[in-house]
Amino acid sequence: MKCFECAKNGKDSDTVAVCIICGRGVCKDHLVREETPVWEGEYSIKLKCGMGISCDYKDVQHWKKVLCIPCHEALKENY
Ligand SMILES: [Zn+2]
Ligand SMILES: [Zn+2]
Repeated sequence: MKCFECAKNGKDSDTVAVCIICGRGVCKDHLVREETPVWEGEYSIKLKCGMGISCDYKDVQHWKKVLCIPCHEALKENY
């Protein structure tokens, strides 16, 4: 998967993470690691495990903190 933000700028970067909100891939330059605990369990990551589907706790810890820049900006406005 290629970074969505880089693709918009005509670049071609491999993703290192996936935004927990919109699901777009982001490279290391475009991801935002958010430490705000308020967001915990609020977004789509919750649908990927639980309800009979086992999940790797470490993976969840990792993914739940990664946002793309547009989602991060949108969330900051909604604080
Ligand atoms: Zn990028
Ligand atoms: Zn996003």
